[in-house]
Amino acid sequence: MTLAQSLDPATRQALIARVRFYRDLGLTEFYRRPVDSALLVQLAGAWETPPPPSAVQDEPISPQPSFFPEDHSIPPRKPMPAPPAVASAVPAADRAAALQLIREDLGDCTRCPLHSGRNKLVFADGDPNARLMFVGEGPGADEDAQGLPFVGRAGQLLNNMIAAMGLNREQVYIANVVKCRPPGNRTPEPDEANTCSPFLFRQIDVVRPEVLVALGATAATYLLGQRQPLAGLRGRVHSVRGTRLIVTYHPAYLLRDPRQKKEAWADLQIAMRELGLKPPSRG
Ligand code: SF4
Repeated sequence: MTLAQSLDPATRQALIARVRFYRDLGLTEFYRRPVDSALLVQLAGAWETPPPPSAVQDEPISPQPSFFPEDHSIPPRKPMPAPPAVASAVPAADRAAALQLIREDLGDCTRCPLHSGRNKLVFADGDPNARLMFVGEGPGADEDAQGLPFVGRAGQLLNNMIAAMGLNREQVYIANVVKCRPPGNRTPEPDEANTCSPFLFRQIDVVRPEVLVALGATAATYLLGQRQPLAGLRGRVHSVRGTRLIVTYHPAYLLRDPRQKKEAWADLQIAMRELGLKPPSRG
């Protein structure tokens, strides 16, 4: 039995959470202190040999972590159609119907493996004519149960973030990179995200928000088409499909580390500046 296989489930879950914590923080390179050679051999075996299915709990540890430090690319996907020119944009009055067509195209989707574990497909929520759109990673347990994005604890925090901007949830549009819950809330695999994200791009093309906010590294990766540490993407305005994109932390990460809320607020203020919004007065 390898070292990874011998970890008790609680330790494995804690290890997964810690790696995700660092990934969300933008830390992707790790260094080992010198250790004795016998332990190095044991550790090498632990990461090179995948655990048997019977040893896998809710969230399997991949033998090759999906967020690989040196790899800044994601597997190639089919070329995306260019976003529509402004002149051919869907008129505001037709956007709800255009989004409904995308939903009907998805149907009872079985295009990627995530379909097998879902309860409800989570398409989107909010105003089809929103000026501001949030993109997250994928549904969690609450979202899978209700068929709506960001309705659990992270969703409550997102609602608070939206309120801090002087808006309410009904005024924005919210969607995810993948529309079905990954098992154990793991990060979507590249083939899953690349299969589902064209539908997200179609939604963006219909809504044509003035500003997009990517919530977390996975959303930023698949919106920008390149994997980079979150720290290098925050604090500036990107361009995606003719729309300005701001990158910030995922609310679930902010629940784990509330100290970063100040940083997230700085990101949201960039979005507000781009939208010409002022924060609501507290008086
Ligand atoms: S995640 Fe997307 S592509 Fe995969 S089954 Fe669900 S809707 Fe289809």
